[in-house]
Amino acid sequence: LQSLTLSTTYSENIAKMVCSITHEVRNPLTSISGFLQLIKQTNNLHSIHQYTDLALSELTRANDLITDFLNLSKSESKESHPLSINKLIKEMSSVFKSEANLKGIILHIDLISDEPLCIIHEQHLTQVIVNVVKNAFEATEANHSSNQKEVVIQTKVSRDHLLVIVKDNGCGMTEEQLNHLYTPLKTTKKNGTGMGLYVCKKLIEKYNGTMKVQSAIEKGTTITIQLPFYFLKEQ
Ligand code: ADP
Ligand code: MG
Repeated sequence: LQSLTLSTTYSENIAKMVCSITHEVRNPLTSISGFLQLIKQTNNLHSIHQYTDLALSELTRANDLITDFLNLSKSESKESHPLSINKLIKEMSSVFKSEANLKGIILHIDLISDEPLCIIHEQHLTQVIVNVVKNAFEATEANHSSNQKEVVIQTKVSRDHLLVIVKDNGCGMTEEQLNHLYTPLKTTKKNGTGMGLYVCKKLIEKYNGTMKVQSAIEKGTTITIQLPFYFLKEQ
């Protein structure tokens, strides 16, 4: 168990995804082309600004789609070593904290002491945690109740699994949204890609882990990532 090479192929899934992604990327490209035409035809500075902002936002969406998709296809064979998940979360925490601060969200980080190590590629787990925390921030922003917006990132042990729990008091999900949580390209956000959690789930399953979700509309959402651990403590 010194290292684990991931070998399962994604080719079938990838082939299907290529078709949908091509279609999805073409939409923003068509709009960008339209906005550029409009910019060319107008002398009104205000309209030029408006069209430019719209084009830029479409460009970001196309770029996000491609990035998420490439992350999935790159995930095939990566060597993994025992990883301290607490250490990884601590490294990410300053970025998360400043983002939370900007958004008026209180972020609690509650890490288990004496954590066991899990075998997962650092880059993959980073990608999963970033996606899940980003969703939590976006959901708390979308909840317009007067409650203090809060997000908790926690690590815990349950039997032979390490749990990474991300809890928010954001907008929550309807039954219908929950059913499509992992459906690629399904998003409820204006600039969403709907690729984030689909990729996260695939990555976590590669390492024999699971992702669970609990959600209540306007109350919040808890995402639990479970990963098996093999080593009791870092040497
Ligand atoms: P995206 O964030 O680009 O929409 P994701 O795959 O990350 O794509 O998420 C898919 C959908 O799941 C989101 O559009 C949203 O409706 C829902 N969702 C994910 N996380 C949360 C959360 N923490 N709270 C509420 N809804 C969520
Ligand atoms: Mg997302």
